[in-house]
Amino acid sequence: MFVEPRIDSFRADRRSAGWIEVVCGSMFSGKTEELIRRLNRALIAKQKVEIFKPAIDTRYHDTDVVSHNETSIRSTPVQFANDILLLSGDSDVVGIDEAQFFDKELVKVARILANKGKRVILAGLDMDFQGEPFGPMPGLMGIAEFVTKVHAICMKCGGVASYSYRLTTSDKKVLLGEQEAYEARCRHCFYEDFKGDHAG
Ligand SMILES: [Zn+2]
Repeated sequence: MFVEPRIDSFRADRRSAGWIEVVCGSMFSGKTEELIRRLNRALIAKQKVEIFKPAIDTRYHDTDVVSHNETSIRSTPVQFANDILLLSGDSDVVGIDEAQFFDKELVKVARILANKGKRVILAGLDMDFQGEPFGPMPGLMGIAEFVTKVHAICMKCGGVASYSYRLTTSDKKVLLGEQEAYEARCRHCFYEDFKGDHAG
């Protein structure tokens, strides 16, 4: 399990020591639950927490970051990564869910927030349904102090899953209603059925 760094190290001098955490993995890997766990612990410690998600993700509620087990925490939907800069104010901790759906500016935004002394925690899919790095995620993982890759269980063989296998033939990268449309798969089971150019 991820052990949070000492938060009080940036309390004394917030100009010098923010940082970036990335929680990534496939569908059904518990990314959002892990994000919520970290944010709740910050809230319990009476830190000021702001949470954002892309306006595109409207699966459940407009203003909640919701994971599949229904644990939720209030969040602000935003259209562009740059909006987060304007809206994060004097928060100590900035949480961002579904980070893969944001534009690539999110990498710059995360860096600016961390350099201002904030703890920035981003959760997102590291790969799309074709097994390719997803949107700003590789850039975020590159500049983060802490990267946690969580895993699901392969729905075909029970192995360790890090791929999101799409059961439908739609080519749209953003496909909502994920429960029916995807399966978590291990590498073997993903590429056994995947019909893309990248299967190698
Ligand atoms: Zn498998």
